[in-house]
Amino acid sequence: MRLCRFNDDCLGLILNEQVIDVSEALDALPPLRWPVPPGDALIANLAAVRRRVDAVKGMSFVQRHASVRLKSPVANPAKIIGAPANYTAHVDEARADAGIHHGGDIKTINEYGLFLKSSSSLVGPGEGVALRFPDRRNDHEVELALVIGRETDGIAEADALDVVAGYAIGLDITVRGAEDRSLRKSVDSYSVLGPWLVTADEIADPDNLDLCIAVNGETRQDSNTRHLIFSCRRLIAYASRFYRLYPGDIVMTGTPEGVGPLKPGDVMSCEIERIGRMEVAVRAA
Ligand code: MN
Repeated sequence: MRLCRFNDDCLGLILNEQVIDVSEALDALPPLRWPVPPGDALIANLAAVRRRVDAVKGMSFVQRHASVRLKSPVANPAKIIGAPANYTAHVDEARADAGIHHGGDIKTINEYGLFLKSSSSLVGPGEGVALRFPDRRNDHEVELALVIGRETDGIAEADALDVVAGYAIGLDITVRGAEDRSLRKSVDSYSVLGPWLVTADEIADPDNLDLCIAVNGETRQDSNTRHLIFSCRRLIAYASRFYRLYPGDIVMTGTPEGVGPLKPGDVMSCEIERIGRMEVAVRAA
């Protein structure tokens, strides 16, 4: 099932080129009282929501998904986890390019581990990226993103895909510079998730998906997740040894080679096999 959030927080079911408004299925969510549990209520109750979606989809309003404004399919992640230097060819380009390494010694994920991006940096493709430091290099990083489906503390690598709710395209937009990575990747709108959530049952092997991004029609990154240094399973198992994972936590799995600068007016076209395609506009903040 492909679920999106669109316009004024409507819930959409994607069927081919159409979006079916299934917002009525949100009635399956329990009422919340302060303090709400960490994580995203839609993802935490995804099974119940999916049952309601199936029940209401036949009587709902249909329109083309190209005509709606897509937001992040996860509204309230407790955290966004990033995987630095997780493709060997990207590590090589970072070592060769002073505009990326800024005098720093580039290691791999084996030495870095993970990092966190601010949850407040998250937007959907229809909201676009607002560049806040036009005098500095701001790069696109297209990444497979996975969304955790249930609370998880210390899971084995072999079982790790059992806790995935679904997959989406992620953009880990980055200001290059010498500051800490989590600061440079947490600017408002520098995390994009979309175009929708593809539930885990539709993707048997997330470690073999083509992914690519073009900027203004020119291909910049074009690879496959089989080149990940830490696979999806290993990323989840590793992360769960450091912090409890909550429904709606997003793991951006790392970017392949071909990262490059963005400027206001650019349009990024991102595509991942079995997930779909999204266009994201870049503007000045
Ligand atoms: Mn990244």
